[in-house]
Amino acid sequence: MPRDPVCGMVLDERTAKFKMKFGGENYYFCSIKCKKKFKRRKAKFTGER
Ligand SMILES: [Zn+2]
Repeated sequence: MPRDPVCGMVLDERTAKFKMKFGGENYYFCSIKCKKKFKRRKAKFTGER
């Protein structure tokens, strides 16, 4: 199951409304808030892995 990279919440990819493709990977978010945060600080959230 995918995880919201911003807040760490585990999500269901079939029901997740907020998603984004970045760097060839799909990211899922629990809310528009987390999606916006991720957009603003992509480097922080993707660079940690
Ligand atoms: Zn979230």
